[in-house]
Amino acid sequence: MKKLTKSAEILFDYARSIPVIDTHEHIPATENDYISTPISFGELFIPYIVNDLYSSGMDFDTKGNMRAVPFYLIKDDWDALEPYWNNVKHGSYARPLLIALKKYYDVDDLTRDNYKDVLTRINENNKPGIIKRVMQDDCNIVKSINCRNEVSKYENGFVLSNISSPSLVCNSKAGIDIMLEYCGRDKIKNIDELIELGNVWMEKKAAEGAIEFKGRANPVGKPDKDKAEAELQRVLNGENLIEWDTQNLTAYIFEDNIHKAAELDRPVAVHTGVWHDFRNLDVVDTLNIIERNPQTRFDIYHLGIPNTRTAVQIIKNFPNAYMNLCWAHIVAPEMLIQTMKEAIDMVPMNKIFAFGADYVRVIEKVYGHLQIAKENVSIILGDRVDQGQMDIDTAEEIMLKWFYKNPVEFYRIS
Ligand SMILES: [Zn+2]
Repeated sequence: MKKLTKSAEILFDYARSIPVIDTHEHIPATENDYISTPISFGELFIPYIVNDLYSSGMDFDTKGNMRAVPFYLIKDDWDALEPYWNNVKHGSYARPLLIALKKYYDVDDLTRDNYKDVLTRINENNKPGIIKRVMQDDCNIVKSINCRNEVSKYENGFVLSNISSPSLVCNSKAGIDIMLEYCGRDKIKNIDELIELGNVWMEKKAAEGAIEFKGRANPVGKPDKDKAEAELQRVLNGENLIEWDTQNLTAYIFEDNIHKAAELDRPVAVHTGVWHDFRNLDVVDTLNIIERNPQTRFDIYHLGIPNTRTAVQIIKNFPNAYMNLCWAHIVAPEMLIQTMKEAIDMVPMNKIFAFGADYVRVIEKVYGHLQIAKENVSIILGDRVDQGQMDIDTAEEIMLKWFYKNPVEFYRIS
């Protein structure tokens, strides 16, 4: 637990009592999928800690894409891990794991002496009811929005679905095959047919329960049909293209997906910043699509890290752009705190969503991530109180909006 000022402490206590909408995860589509395979040692470090391990020099035999570090190469081998774990365990990616290990397994660190026992106990905990125990009972999360290609099916509708937009699925042959199979089609030959297929995908997913569609920031300012067609033909020919080779295809399809989302009254989530060559994920590039599509509601993820001030300025300037702090709390907590202190001056309070953890399995880490989010928001609002610019009651009201009321309204959660 971080040391907090008196005001922040009062707010943190309040945060423990409020309901939370978890705006972003990647957990398996059913609880049975979640618990049906044992959790491996490497999974403790995904997502994100593995990226710090890679950054610190651990050999993953990978060609340098930060986003695609193969976690399964982390074996149950303490000698191989230890020097790198010591390099990264003080970082903010490691902290949710450490908070979770303390709460659920009463250990302060992963060590040579305890790591096997910790993994055994995590697997003993990996049984029916784990989602309810951790996310609903311990975190007080009332709905969790999950991002996958398929619609999630959890008891009592606890998990809602954010579905990858066709723009994220269409840049490989395998992705297009997934879309064809789901839509009951044989094949597509050109970009017009891909647009039509994408529309069917979105209509069917919305009917099945998707409440949102996801895309990403893209450096293509204005979509170009000819360039998109040329990239699509390479994909259809079975060429294995990296994401950056299909930018035009992604941009052209995404533009249509954005129109379709408005027609279906679904918001569009946009990943911004952080990964690998983040110039290709720059939040400033969301400005084009937000401006061109005032009828679509945009859910801007991750505060554009490291260009957080640009994110704030864009969200201020456009009524259809909203700020989602998912994952940003552990990517760069101090950057987030500073930016949000500034954002309170600039962004209307109805446009901010405080939490999403962006995790896959070892769901205990959601608890750790949420604690950090609550600390950060308590520090941000507590600072206002300490400056004499806000009273505690108002700060609590705003906190409830950020964690609960705003996302309820935005995602039309009943
Ligand atoms: Zn995500």
